Amino acid sequence: MHRAGEDLLYFDNNATTALDPAVVDAMLPYLTELYGNPSSAYGFGARVGQAIETAREQVAALLGCEGKEIIFTSCGSEGNNAAIQSALLADRDRKHIVTSTVEHSATKKLCETLARRGYEITWLPVDADGQIDPAEAAAAIRDDTAVVSLMWANNETGVVFPVEPIACTAREQGAYFHTDAVQAVGKLPVRLENSAIHFLSLAGHKLHAPKGVGALYVHRRSRFTPFLVGGGQEDGRRGGTENVAGIVALGKAAELAGAHLQAEQTAVRAMRDEFEAEILARVPGTEVNGGGAAERLPNTTSLYFPGVESEAMLVLLDKAGLCASAGSACAAGSLHPSHVLTAMGFSTERARCSLRFSFGRFNTPAQVARGLDIVVGAVEKLRRRMPATVG
Ligand SMILES: *Cc1c(COP(=O)(O)O)cnc(C)c1O
Repeated sequence: MHRAGEDLLYFDNNATTALDPAVVDAMLPYLTELYGNPSSAYGFGARVGQAIETAREQVAALLGCEGKEIIFTSCGSEGNNAAIQSALLADRDRKHIVTSTVEHSATKKLCETLARRGYEITWLPVDADGQIDPAEAAAAIRDDTAVVSLMWANNETGVVFPVEPIACTAREQGAYFHTDAVQAVGKLPVRLENSAIHFLSLAGHKLHAPKGVGALYVHRRSRFTPFLVGGGQEDGRRGGTENVAGIVALGKAAELAGAHLQAEQTAVRAMRDEFEAEILARVPGTEVNGGGAAERLPNTTSLYFPGVESEAMLVLLDKAGLCASAGSACAAGSLHPSHVLTAMGFSTERARCSLRFSFGRFNTPAQVARGLDIVVGAVEKLRRRMPATVG
């Protein structure tokens, strides 16, 4: 077993990320001496409440919005569920939803559930690059569309959707626009001050904060119906005693993400580009999924290794201490090929023989070099084992 540290090659930063040590330092006091309830009237509670407000401002600063537009949640999935369900409650005559075929399961499964409850869903297709057609998206929005939900960046391929112009069209039609920005925040600049977006979800654990905390941006003039009904926490918009340590951690992680945004675009991108270019050069037949004209996240590469089953690859990579993934973490272990890759028009074979590598600021060029040898060696080993299936 390879433990986290020097010898682990963690190239799965789209599944989750390591906590930044500065984030751990920021949250620790709220797991130890500062345990007051932020809703309590005395100073010991108020001090904890103040820490939540500081975190709210830190998250708002990263997104270019106002603190009062941030609601803390438990995860990215909760943000997606809360935003879409709130939009549906705003005008019950609107029974139509627009989304894409490549959304994260948090959105995809919710829309499938809503379809069974009588909502009509338009599933926008993607092309072979993994991109939607903005004109087709705009044309899909009708006068009975309640909400358009499109991810900002895809977790499997890294492909970035042009969300802002589609949000403008949705707004003009009186529909809400939600974006699942779980993969985008911290990797791409996000400025919401003049945006048409109504709702945006993010998750702490994708940007070096812990699991169990996230945030939902709700535009200051948007109606919002709470998803979790309870006490008056979060200005009455989400019941439940706050995950204070997690929220403080997310605030600190947001501040650090802002400071490291440039490095994501340069150092992390350089590692991804180096890894991708070397694999393409050293492993015959390899292709990039989503490597066409579409803009991509700087940290992600999805690679097709013809004839090499990703499940077998992952076993070999794991033995060598390298973490990567086939499809999304949530779909791993299931026998279904990635819905993202099949939506791009790829064969089941291509979807089954593809791996995602996602880098982060705690990776080093030396790790990338070591990882390259391991991946190239694993492909060669598997191709020797099943030579007839190559190509
Ligand atoms: C990870 C992820 C989610 C889910 O976030 P959780 O915090 O695990 O609920 C949603 N959307 C995308 C694009 C993701 O990558």
